[in-house]
Amino acid sequence: MKLYRLIASEAGPTKLFVGGLHGKEGLYTAPILEQLAKDVVYAGRAIIVPCLVEHGKYVDVLSEEYYQSRAGIELLQLIENYKPHFYFELHAYGKHSYSRLTDPERELRIGVPPFVDFGTGILLGSIAPILRRKFSERDFCVTIEVPNWKSEDENVRAEVLQILRLALSKAKREEVMLELRMWYPAQIQKAEELFRQYYRNRLKPF
Ligand SMILES: [Zn+2]
Repeated sequence: MKLYRLIASEAGPTKLFVGGLHGKEGLYTAPILEQLAKDVVYAGRAIIVPCLVEHGKYVDVLSEEYYQSRAGIELLQLIENYKPHFYFELHAYGKHSYSRLTDPERELRIGVPPFVDFGTGILLGSIAPILRRKFSERDFCVTIEVPNWKSEDENVRAEVLQILRLALSKAKREEVMLELRMWYPAQIQKAEELFRQYYRNRLKPF
């Protein structure tokens, strides 16, 4: 597992960016995170793992089983070691999964809210509830899903990078959210609403 550590001279939050959590999605997430690893972090430190597992078995990160698999154990270990304040999971999905991931009935069907489409097929959501419990209320935990059939598209790649770079450059969760609300007003409003409904105001999005 390749891991990059970006360390700023100024104190600040720890950020963990992880891609390729299962199956072959690392093929699509790694080039984006490799690019992100060339950036600088302005405060605190950032840990970037472009591909947690190469050609791994596909086990859903929503399941308990995932956190008992090798990839899941390594992920828990990273979180335990670095105790990140910002945690970004980068996944890639196929065309056939779009309706399942964005299904308005997703919570009724499988117990978690649907993802929100930023507009180009890049999806935003919270992380698996099982994993969210490992973080504190103040931590900032986000999942981004990249449409794998568009991963070679320069515009899509640039847009994902722009979102990740925003997270890399800001010291506070609220600064990131403020900017995202300006870029994607309707989508962020929807995503925040879904988050609040799900966590019943026990947690602030995300
Ligand atoms: Zn995935």
